[in-house]
Amino acid sequence: MKQFACATVVDGCPGVVRGETEEEVLGLAAAHAAEAHGMSDLSPEVVEAVRAGISDA
Ligand SMILES: [Zn+2]
Repeated sequence: MKQFACATVVDGCPGVVRGETEEEVLGLAAAHAAEAHGMSDLSPEVVEAVRAGISDA
């Protein structure tokens, strides 16, 4: 399992997403960002930050 803590990118956000693969976690993180933060379009910089913040769960 892989996981990503949203607080890595958005200060103070308690959101954590988990998935089987890095790609799945990226997708879930994008969905969370859209839903919780109104970020419907993630910039390449944000995607890179999310990717870098993914860790083994
Ligand atoms: Zn968040």
